[in-house]
Amino acid sequence: MDFELTEEQRMFRDMARKFAEQEILPTLKENERQEKFDSSIIKKMASQGLLAPHMPQEYGGLGLDYVTSAIIWEALCWASLAVTQAAMSGPIQPATNLLDAGSEQQKQKYLPPVCRGDLILSGAVVEPNAGSDSSMIETTAVRSGNHWVINGTKVFITNGEIADVVLFIAQTDKSKGLKGLASFIVERGTPGFSSKPQKGRISWRGGSEGSLRFIDIELPLENQVGETGRALRDALRGIDTARLFLAAGALGIAQSCLDASIKYAKERVQFGKPIGGHQLIQEIIAEMATKIEAARWLIYRAADLKSRGIRHIKEMSYAKYFATETALWITSQAVKIHGSFGTFDDYPVGHHYQDAITATILGGTTQMHQLTIGQQLLEMAAFR
Ligand SMILES: Cc1cc2nc3c(=O)[nH]c(=O)nc-3n(C[C@H](O)[C@H](O)[C@H](O)COP(=O)(O)OP(=O)(O)OC[C@H]3O[C@@H](n4cnc5c(N)ncnc54)[C@H](O)[C@@H]3O)c2cc1C
Repeated sequence: MDFELTEEQRMFRDMARKFAEQEILPTLKENERQEKFDSSIIKKMASQGLLAPHMPQEYGGLGLDYVTSAIIWEALCWASLAVTQAAMSGPIQPATNLLDAGSEQQKQKYLPPVCRGDLILSGAVVEPNAGSDSSMIETTAVRSGNHWVINGTKVFITNGEIADVVLFIAQTDKSKGLKGLASFIVERGTPGFSSKPQKGRISWRGGSEGSLRFIDIELPLENQVGETGRALRDALRGIDTARLFLAAGALGIAQSCLDASIKYAKERVQFGKPIGGHQLIQEIIAEMATKIEAARWLIYRAADLKSRGIRHIKEMSYAKYFATETALWITSQAVKIHGSFGTFDDYPVGHHYQDAITATILGGTTQMHQLTIGQQLLEMAAFR
Protein backbone atom coordinates (compact mmCIF):
# COMPACT_ATOMS: atom_id res chain seq x y z
CA MET A 1 0.00 0.00 0.00
CA ASP A 2 1.41 3.36 -1.02
CA PHE A 3 -0.40 6.37 0.43
CA GLU A 4 1.67 8.96 -1.45
CA LEU A 5 0.35 10.66 -4.59
CA THR A 6 2.38 10.00 -7.72
CA GLU A 7 4.14 12.84 -9.48
CA GLU A 8 1.47 12.71 -12.20
CA GLN A 9 -1.33 12.93 -9.62
CA ARG A 10 0.30 15.94 -7.95
CA MET A 11 0.69 17.59 -11.35
CA PHE A 12 -3.00 17.07 -12.22
CA ARG A 13 -4.09 18.22 -8.73
CA ASP A 14 -2.08 21.45 -9.02
CA MET A 15 -3.29 22.08 -12.56
CA ALA A 16 -6.94 21.59 -11.56
CA ARG A 17 -6.56 23.77 -8.48
CA LYS A 18 -5.01 26.56 -10.59
CA PHE A 19 -7.90 26.25 -13.04
CA ALA A 20 -10.41 26.43 -10.16
CA GLU A 21 -8.78 29.58 -8.80
CA GLN A 22 -8.31 31.31 -12.15
CA GLU A 23 -11.40 30.25 -14.10
CA ILE A 24 -14.16 29.38 -11.61
CA LEU A 25 -13.70 31.61 -8.58
CA PRO A 26 -13.51 35.07 -10.22
CA THR A 27 -17.04 34.95 -11.70
CA LEU A 28 -18.65 32.64 -9.16
CA LYS A 29 -20.24 35.17 -6.82
CA GLU A 30 -21.95 37.17 -9.57
CA ASN A 31 -23.13 34.04 -11.38
CA GLU A 32 -24.53 32.58 -8.15
CA ARG A 33 -26.34 35.83 -7.38
CA GLN A 34 -28.03 35.56 -10.77
CA GLU A 35 -28.50 31.80 -10.41
CA LYS A 36 -26.56 31.37 -13.64
CA PHE A 37 -24.33 28.62 -14.98
CA ASP A 38 -21.81 30.04 -17.44
CA SER A 39 -21.43 27.13 -19.86
CA SER A 40 -18.30 28.64 -21.44
CA ILE A 41 -16.43 26.94 -18.58
CA ILE A 42 -17.03 23.59 -20.33
CA LYS A 43 -14.86 24.50 -23.32
CA LYS A 44 -12.23 26.00 -21.04
CA MET A 45 -12.03 22.77 -19.03
CA ALA A 46 -11.81 20.76 -22.24
CA SER A 47 -8.97 22.92 -23.58
CA GLN A 48 -6.95 22.08 -20.46
CA GLY A 49 -7.78 18.38 -20.75
CA LEU A 50 -9.75 18.45 -17.48
CA LEU A 51 -13.28 17.83 -18.79
CA ALA A 52 -13.20 14.06 -19.17
CA PRO A 53 -10.18 12.65 -17.33
CA HIS A 54 -11.72 9.20 -16.83
CA MET A 55 -12.96 8.67 -20.40
CA PRO A 56 -10.85 6.48 -22.73
CA GLN A 57 -8.45 8.32 -25.01
CA GLU A 58 -10.03 6.79 -28.12
CA TYR A 59 -13.22 8.75 -27.34
CA GLY A 60 -11.48 12.00 -26.42
CA GLY A 61 -10.77 11.59 -22.69
CA LEU A 62 -7.44 11.31 -20.90
CA GLY A 63 -7.89 7.66 -19.97
CA LEU A 64 -6.84 8.29 -16.36
CA ASP A 65 -7.59 5.93 -13.48
CA TYR A 66 -10.36 6.83 -11.02
CA VAL A 67 -8.05 7.81 -8.14
CA THR A 68 -6.37 10.43 -10.33
CA SER A 69 -9.76 11.53 -11.67
CA ALA A 70 -11.06 11.91 -8.09
CA ILE A 71 -8.02 14.02 -7.22
CA ILE A 72 -8.79 16.31 -10.17
CA TRP A 73 -12.49 16.52 -9.23
CA GLU A 74 -11.65 17.39 -5.62
CA ALA A 75 -9.30 20.19 -6.74
CA LEU A 76 -11.86 21.69 -9.15
CA CYS A 77 -14.70 21.51 -6.61
CA TRP A 78 -12.49 23.32 -4.09
CA ALA A 79 -13.87 26.39 -5.90
CA SER A 80 -17.43 25.17 -6.58
CA LEU A 81 -19.07 21.77 -6.60
CA ALA A 82 -22.16 23.06 -8.41
CA VAL A 83 -20.22 24.66 -11.29
CA THR A 84 -17.89 21.70 -11.68
CA GLN A 85 -20.81 19.24 -11.62
CA ALA A 86 -22.71 21.18 -14.28
CA ALA A 87 -19.59 21.39 -16.46
CA MET A 88 -18.58 17.74 -16.14
CA SER A 89 -21.92 16.04 -15.71
CA GLY A 90 -22.16 14.96 -19.38
CA PRO A 91 -18.80 13.18 -19.51
CA ILE A 92 -19.31 11.71 -16.04
CA GLN A 93 -22.78 10.19 -16.03
CA PRO A 94 -24.54 9.82 -19.41
CA ALA A 95 -21.29 9.46 -21.36
CA THR A 96 -20.26 6.59 -19.10
CA ASN A 97 -23.63 4.94 -19.75
CA LEU A 98 -23.14 5.38 -23.46
CA LEU A 99 -19.62 4.01 -23.24
CA ASP A 100 -20.89 0.85 -21.57
CA ALA A 101 -24.19 0.30 -23.36
CA GLY A 102 -24.07 2.25 -26.63
CA SER A 103 -23.34 0.87 -30.08
CA GLU A 104 -19.98 1.74 -31.62
CA GLN A 105 -21.79 4.12 -33.98
CA GLN A 106 -23.48 5.91 -31.05
CA LYS A 107 -20.19 6.16 -29.16
CA GLN A 108 -18.32 7.56 -32.18
CA LYS A 109 -21.08 10.06 -32.85
CA TYR A 110 -21.52 11.47 -29.36
CA LEU A 111 -18.56 10.79 -27.07
CA PRO A 112 -15.73 12.71 -28.80
CA PRO A 113 -17.75 15.97 -29.08
CA VAL A 114 -18.88 15.60 -25.45
CA CYS A 115 -15.27 15.17 -24.30
CA ARG A 116 -14.19 18.17 -26.43
CA GLY A 117 -16.92 20.32 -24.86
CA ASP A 118 -18.60 20.80 -28.25
CA LEU A 119 -21.81 19.02 -27.27
CA ILE A 120 -23.73 19.11 -23.98
CA LEU A 121 -25.13 15.72 -23.02
CA SER A 122 -27.63 15.25 -20.18
CA GLY A 123 -28.75 12.06 -18.50
CA ALA A 124 -32.43 11.98 -17.54
CA VAL A 125 -33.90 9.39 -15.20
CA VAL A 126 -35.82 11.33 -12.53
CA GLU A 127 -39.45 12.43 -12.94
CA PRO A 128 -42.01 14.20 -10.77
CA ASN A 129 -43.23 10.83 -9.37
CA ALA A 130 -40.03 8.83 -9.78
CA GLY A 131 -37.05 9.93 -7.68
CA SER A 132 -35.13 7.30 -5.74
CA ASP A 133 -37.61 4.68 -6.96
CA SER A 134 -37.09 4.25 -10.70
CA SER A 135 -39.81 1.61 -10.94
CA MET A 136 -42.21 4.58 -10.87
CA ILE A 137 -40.95 5.99 -14.19
CA GLU A 138 -43.99 7.12 -16.20
CA THR A 139 -42.38 8.35 -19.41
CA THR A 140 -43.58 5.93 -22.06
CA ALA A 141 -41.93 4.54 -25.17
CA VAL A 142 -44.39 2.86 -27.50
CA ARG A 143 -43.17 0.96 -30.54
CA SER A 144 -45.01 2.04 -33.68
CA GLY A 145 -43.72 0.56 -36.96
CA ASN A 146 -40.09 1.58 -37.43
CA HIS A 147 -39.96 4.14 -34.65
CA TRP A 148 -40.64 4.78 -30.96
CA VAL A 149 -43.21 7.31 -29.75
CA ILE A 150 -42.15 9.02 -26.51
CA ASN A 151 -44.32 10.90 -24.02
CA GLY A 152 -43.41 12.11 -20.54
CA THR A 153 -41.63 14.59 -18.27
CA LYS A 154 -38.21 14.63 -16.60
CA VAL A 155 -37.22 16.98 -13.76
CA PHE A 156 -34.08 18.26 -12.00
CA ILE A 157 -31.97 17.32 -15.02
CA THR A 158 -28.47 18.76 -14.94
CA ASN A 159 -28.12 21.06 -17.97
CA GLY A 160 -31.62 20.04 -19.05
CA GLU A 161 -32.21 23.60 -20.20
CA ILE A 162 -29.15 23.73 -22.47
CA ALA A 163 -28.51 20.11 -23.42
CA ASP A 164 -27.90 19.38 -27.09
CA VAL A 165 -28.58 15.69 -26.57
CA VAL A 166 -30.34 13.75 -23.80
CA LEU A 167 -29.93 10.10 -22.84
CA PHE A 168 -33.13 9.18 -21.00
CA ILE A 169 -35.00 6.19 -19.60
CA ALA A 170 -38.59 5.36 -20.51
CA GLN A 171 -41.04 2.55 -19.80
CA THR A 172 -41.83 0.32 -22.78
CA ASP A 173 -44.23 -2.01 -20.94
CA LYS A 174 -45.56 -1.11 -17.51
CA SER A 175 -46.55 -4.70 -16.75
CA LYS A 176 -42.86 -5.67 -16.83
CA GLY A 177 -41.82 -3.13 -14.18
CA LEU A 178 -38.04 -2.51 -14.16
CA LYS A 179 -37.65 -5.08 -16.97
CA GLY A 180 -39.71 -2.82 -19.23
CA LEU A 181 -37.32 0.14 -18.92
CA ALA A 182 -35.19 1.15 -21.91
CA SER A 183 -32.75 3.99 -22.72
CA PHE A 184 -33.01 6.33 -25.67
CA ILE A 185 -31.23 9.29 -27.19
CA VAL A 186 -33.09 12.43 -28.22
CA GLU A 187 -31.45 15.42 -29.89
CA ARG A 188 -32.55 19.01 -29.37
CA GLY A 189 -34.64 20.14 -32.31
CA THR A 190 -36.55 16.87 -32.51
CA PRO A 191 -40.27 17.77 -32.84
CA GLY A 192 -42.08 17.36 -29.50
CA PHE A 193 -38.96 17.89 -27.36
CA SER A 194 -38.83 20.99 -25.13
CA SER A 195 -37.08 22.08 -21.94
CA LYS A 196 -37.36 24.74 -19.26
CA PRO A 197 -34.93 26.03 -16.64
CA GLN A 198 -35.73 25.22 -13.00
CA LYS A 199 -35.02 28.40 -11.06
CA GLY A 200 -35.45 29.46 -7.45
CA ARG A 201 -32.84 27.12 -5.99
CA ILE A 202 -31.64 27.68 -2.41
CA SER A 203 -28.48 25.72 -3.23
CA TRP A 204 -26.39 24.84 -6.31
CA ARG A 205 -26.98 28.36 -7.58
CA GLY A 206 -23.92 28.20 -9.85
CA GLY A 207 -25.17 24.97 -11.39
CA SER A 208 -27.81 24.21 -13.98
CA GLU A 209 -31.05 22.25 -13.70
CA GLY A 210 -33.96 21.97 -16.09
CA SER A 211 -37.11 20.00 -16.77
CA LEU A 212 -37.78 18.19 -20.04
CA ARG A 213 -41.04 17.57 -21.82
CA PHE A 214 -41.55 14.86 -24.43
CA ILE A 215 -44.79 15.10 -26.41
CA ASP A 216 -45.34 12.46 -29.12
CA ILE A 217 -41.66 12.48 -30.00
CA GLU A 218 -40.89 10.04 -32.80
CA LEU A 219 -37.49 8.42 -32.46
CA PRO A 220 -35.94 6.03 -34.99
CA LEU A 221 -35.29 2.52 -33.61
CA GLU A 222 -31.53 3.14 -33.74
CA ASN A 223 -31.93 5.81 -31.03
CA GLN A 224 -32.43 3.10 -28.43
CA VAL A 225 -29.30 2.54 -26.34
CA GLY A 226 -28.63 -0.97 -25.09
CA GLU A 227 -31.27 -3.61 -24.52
CA THR A 228 -34.77 -3.23 -23.14
CA GLY A 229 -34.80 -4.37 -19.51
CA ARG A 230 -31.18 -3.37 -18.84
CA ALA A 231 -31.65 0.41 -18.77
CA LEU A 232 -31.39 0.80 -15.02
CA ARG A 233 -28.42 -1.50 -14.75
CA ASP A 234 -26.68 0.40 -17.57
CA ALA A 235 -27.54 3.75 -15.96
CA LEU A 236 -26.18 2.63 -12.61
CA ARG A 237 -22.66 2.35 -14.05
CA GLY A 238 -22.74 6.03 -14.94
CA ILE A 239 -24.38 6.85 -11.64
CA ASP A 240 -21.55 4.99 -9.88
CA THR A 241 -19.07 7.35 -11.57
CA ALA A 242 -21.25 10.31 -10.59
CA ARG A 243 -21.22 9.09 -6.97
CA LEU A 244 -17.44 9.03 -6.97
CA PHE A 245 -17.39 12.51 -8.47
CA LEU A 246 -19.84 13.82 -5.83
CA ALA A 247 -17.87 12.23 -2.99
CA ALA A 248 -14.65 13.80 -4.30
CA GLY A 249 -16.44 17.09 -4.87
CA ALA A 250 -17.82 17.09 -1.33
CA LEU A 251 -14.28 16.50 -0.13
CA GLY A 252 -13.16 19.51 -2.20
CA ILE A 253 -15.69 21.85 -0.60
CA ALA A 254 -14.90 20.50 2.88
CA GLN A 255 -11.18 21.06 2.31
CA SER A 256 -11.85 24.55 1.01
CA CYS A 257 -13.85 25.34 4.17
CA LEU A 258 -11.11 23.94 6.41
CA ASP A 259 -8.47 26.04 4.58
CA ALA A 260 -10.60 29.17 4.94
CA SER A 261 -11.43 28.45 8.59
CA ILE A 262 -7.78 27.96 9.57
CA LYS A 263 -6.86 31.22 7.86
CA TYR A 264 -9.72 33.12 9.48
CA ALA A 265 -9.13 31.60 12.93
CA LYS A 266 -5.55 32.89 12.83
CA GLU A 267 -6.63 36.41 11.81
CA ARG A 268 -9.82 37.09 13.75
CA VAL A 269 -9.09 38.40 17.24
CA GLN A 270 -11.67 38.12 20.04
CA PHE A 271 -11.10 38.09 23.81
CA GLY A 272 -7.52 39.28 23.32
CA LYS A 273 -6.23 36.58 20.98
CA PRO A 274 -6.90 35.00 17.58
CA ILE A 275 -10.03 32.85 17.86
CA GLY A 276 -7.90 29.87 16.76
CA GLY A 277 -6.22 30.12 20.17
CA HIS A 278 -9.48 29.27 21.93
CA GLN A 279 -9.74 25.57 22.66
CA LEU A 280 -13.33 25.17 21.47
CA ILE A 281 -12.36 26.49 18.02
CA GLN A 282 -9.35 24.16 17.96
CA GLU A 283 -11.68 21.26 18.71
CA ILE A 284 -13.82 22.10 15.67
CA ILE A 285 -10.76 22.50 13.43
CA ALA A 286 -9.37 19.18 14.65
CA GLU A 287 -12.66 17.42 13.99
CA MET A 288 -12.98 18.97 10.54
CA ALA A 289 -9.47 17.86 9.57
CA THR A 290 -9.93 14.34 10.93
CA LYS A 291 -13.21 13.84 9.11
CA ILE A 292 -11.71 15.15 5.86
CA GLU A 293 -8.84 12.72 6.16
CA ALA A 294 -11.26 9.82 6.78
CA ALA A 295 -13.43 10.83 3.81
CA ARG A 296 -10.39 11.13 1.54
CA TRP A 297 -9.27 7.55 2.17
CA LEU A 298 -12.78 6.15 1.76
CA ILE A 299 -12.93 7.90 -1.62
CA TYR A 300 -9.49 6.78 -2.80
CA ARG A 301 -10.29 3.21 -1.74
CA ALA A 302 -13.57 3.15 -3.70
CA ALA A 303 -11.84 4.80 -6.68
CA ASP A 304 -9.02 2.28 -6.62
CA LEU A 305 -11.44 -0.66 -6.55
CA LYS A 306 -13.39 0.90 -9.43
CA SER A 307 -10.21 1.40 -11.47
CA ARG A 308 -9.27 -2.23 -10.95
CA GLY A 309 -12.73 -3.47 -11.91
CA ILE A 310 -13.36 -4.95 -8.45
CA ARG A 311 -16.89 -4.98 -7.02
CA HIS A 312 -17.25 -1.89 -4.85
CA ILE A 313 -20.96 -1.28 -4.22
CA LYS A 314 -20.70 -0.80 -0.48
CA GLU A 315 -17.34 0.99 -0.64
CA MET A 316 -18.78 3.57 -3.06
CA SER A 317 -21.77 4.06 -0.76
CA TYR A 318 -19.45 4.50 2.26
CA ALA A 319 -17.57 7.18 0.31
CA LYS A 320 -20.59 9.05 -1.09
CA TYR A 321 -22.61 8.94 2.13
CA PHE A 322 -19.75 9.82 4.47
CA ALA A 323 -18.10 12.49 2.30
CA THR A 324 -21.32 14.39 1.56
CA GLU A 325 -22.65 14.26 5.13
CA THR A 326 -19.19 15.26 6.37
CA ALA A 327 -19.16 18.19 3.96
CA LEU A 328 -22.57 19.25 5.22
CA TRP A 329 -21.26 19.33 8.81
CA ILE A 330 -17.91 20.92 7.93
CA THR A 331 -19.38 23.67 5.77
CA SER A 332 -21.82 24.63 8.54
CA GLN A 333 -19.00 24.71 11.09
CA ALA A 334 -16.98 26.89 8.72
CA VAL A 335 -19.82 29.40 8.50
CA LYS A 336 -20.02 29.46 12.32
CA ILE A 337 -16.27 30.03 12.64
CA HIS A 338 -16.61 33.00 10.29
CA GLY A 339 -19.44 34.37 12.45
CA SER A 340 -21.79 36.83 10.77
CA PHE A 341 -19.18 37.44 8.05
CA GLY A 342 -19.68 33.79 7.11
CA THR A 343 -23.32 34.39 6.29
CA PHE A 344 -22.37 36.68 3.36
CA ASP A 345 -21.20 35.50 -0.03
CA ASP A 346 -18.06 37.66 0.21
CA TYR A 347 -16.44 35.06 2.42
CA PRO A 348 -15.26 31.79 0.87
CA VAL A 349 -17.51 29.42 2.82
CA GLY A 350 -21.14 30.50 2.33
CA HIS A 351 -21.59 29.01 -1.15
CA HIS A 352 -20.09 25.70 -0.06
CA TYR A 353 -22.53 25.62 2.86
CA GLN A 354 -25.40 26.14 0.42
CA ASP A 355 -24.18 23.48 -2.00
CA ALA A 356 -23.42 20.83 0.62
CA ILE A 357 -27.05 19.92 1.26
CA THR A 358 -27.66 19.19 -2.41
CA ALA A 359 -24.62 16.91 -2.57
CA THR A 360 -26.37 14.64 -0.04
CA ILE A 361 -29.38 14.32 -2.40
CA LEU A 362 -28.21 13.78 -5.97
CA GLY A 363 -26.31 10.65 -6.93
CA GLY A 364 -28.46 8.73 -4.45
CA THR A 365 -29.65 10.26 -1.19
CA THR A 366 -27.94 9.51 2.10
CA GLN A 367 -30.75 7.10 2.98
CA MET A 368 -30.34 5.22 -0.32
CA HIS A 369 -26.65 4.72 0.44
CA GLN A 370 -27.36 3.64 4.01
CA LEU A 371 -29.86 1.11 2.69
CA THR A 372 -27.34 -0.08 0.10
CA ILE A 373 -24.70 -0.60 2.79
CA GLY A 374 -27.19 -2.33 5.09
CA GLN A 375 -28.39 -4.55 2.29
CA GLN A 376 -24.84 -5.55 1.36
CA LEU A 377 -23.85 -6.34 4.95
CA LEU A 378 -27.04 -8.10 5.98
CA GLU A 379 -27.71 -9.74 2.61
CA MET A 380 -31.34 -8.73 3.04
CA ALA A 381 -33.41 -6.56 0.70
CA ALA A 382 -34.08 -3.21 2.32
CA PHE A 383 -35.69 -1.04 -0.33
CA ARG A 384 -39.08 -2.77 -0.48
C1 LIG B 1 -28.62 19.64 -8.56
C2 LIG B 1 -29.31 18.39 -8.97
C3 LIG B 1 -28.98 17.80 -10.17
C4 LIG B 1 -29.65 16.64 -10.58
N1 LIG B 1 -29.33 16.10 -11.80
C5 LIG B 1 -30.03 15.02 -12.25
C6 LIG B 1 -29.79 14.51 -13.56
O1 LIG B 1 -28.94 15.01 -14.30
N2 LIG B 1 -30.55 13.45 -13.98
C7 LIG B 1 -31.51 12.88 -13.18
O2 LIG B 1 -32.14 11.94 -13.61
N3 LIG B 1 -31.75 13.37 -11.94
C8 LIG B 1 -31.06 14.42 -11.47
N4 LIG B 1 -31.32 14.93 -10.21
C9 LIG B 1 -32.38 14.33 -9.41
C10 LIG B 1 -31.84 13.49 -8.26
O3 LIG B 1 -31.19 12.36 -8.74
C11 LIG B 1 -33.03 13.15 -7.34
O4 LIG B 1 -33.47 14.36 -6.75
C12 LIG B 1 -32.65 12.14 -6.29
O5 LIG B 1 -32.45 10.87 -6.88
C13 LIG B 1 -33.72 11.99 -5.20
O6 LIG B 1 -34.99 11.87 -5.74
P1 LIG B 1 -36.18 12.80 -5.16
O7 LIG B 1 -35.66 14.19 -5.11
O8 LIG B 1 -37.38 12.54 -5.96
O9 LIG B 1 -36.37 12.32 -3.66
P2 LIG B 1 -37.26 11.06 -3.17
O10 LIG B 1 -36.79 9.82 -3.80
O11 LIG B 1 -38.69 11.41 -3.27
O12 LIG B 1 -36.85 11.03 -1.62
C14 LIG B 1 -37.34 11.99 -0.67
C15 LIG B 1 -36.75 11.61 0.70
O13 LIG B 1 -37.23 10.31 1.09
C16 LIG B 1 -36.14 9.45 1.37
N5 LIG B 1 -36.51 8.10 0.96
C17 LIG B 1 -37.02 7.67 -0.23
N6 LIG B 1 -37.21 6.34 -0.20
C18 LIG B 1 -36.80 5.90 1.03
C19 LIG B 1 -36.71 4.62 1.66
N7 LIG B 1 -37.04 3.49 1.01
N8 LIG B 1 -36.23 4.57 2.92
C20 LIG B 1 -35.83 5.69 3.56
N9 LIG B 1 -35.87 6.92 3.02
C21 LIG B 1 -36.36 7.02 1.77
C22 LIG B 1 -34.97 10.01 0.53
O14 LIG B 1 -33.73 9.60 1.06
C23 LIG B 1 -35.22 11.51 0.68
O15 LIG B 1 -34.70 11.95 1.92
C24 LIG B 1 -30.66 16.06 -9.76
C25 LIG B 1 -30.96 16.66 -8.54
C26 LIG B 1 -30.32 17.81 -8.15
C27 LIG B 1 -30.71 18.43 -6.85
